[in-house]
Amino acid sequence: MAKIIGLTGGIGSGKTTIANYLASLKIPVYIADDAGKKVMQKPEIIDAIREKFGDGIIEENQLNRAKLAEIVFKDPEQLKILNSIVHPAVKEDFKDWLNKHRDADYVVYESAILFESGNYKNFDVIMTVTAPLETRIARVLQRDNTSREQVLNRINSQWTDEQRVAKSDFVIENIEIGLAKQKIDEILKILSINQ
Ligand code: ATP
Repeated sequence: MAKIIGLTGGIGSGKTTIANYLASLKIPVYIADDAGKKVMQKPEIIDAIREKFGDGIIEENQLNRAKLAEIVFKDPEQLKILNSIVHPAVKEDFKDWLNKHRDADYVVYESAILFESGNYKNFDVIMTVTAPLETRIARVLQRDNTSREQVLNRINSQWTDEQRVAKSDFVIENIEIGLAKQKIDEILKILSINQ
């Protein structure tokens, strides 16, 4: 069975950018956030969310994800409820995906909430991507149609870099992308991946 590298980092740290680099090196990459979006289109998941959050969360038979995000990222209890619906579905989806890639030496599981979800306990190697807080906020404001307050709500719903780093096998500082890629190459060498 393939060994699993858990890849995480706070919002705007550059996890997906790093995950894409790993994928370009032919390492299978699973993006938990994309899987979450996918399962949230399933009728049974939409129904379960509607039951907890009310009809106002539905627009043309689809979830209004922006509205949902606004609710859950300022209320930890609501976030817990949403996660209790979405996480088991993602877990199933990942199991199927992993089975398809079982012959690989390593696969990567990328998630912003690897620690918060407790998922990290199931993985073989943990990598955390870091960047200064203001850099992360600036990146997200440039990428998304969102406000500083919303970004801060999300940051406050996640672990801090210090907490993540303390539990990681490897830390990738992602300020200058070339240096971050160099660091990845060094880590892959240590793990004897793609050598
Ligand atoms: P989220 O948790 O919100 O999904 P993320 O950690 O996956 O964020 P990315 O989406 O990879 O972060 O990066 C956030 C934004 O910052 C993107 O627009 C990306 O292109 C940009 N970015 C990532 N790394 C760098 C870098 N080293 N230099 C400049 N811009 C970067």
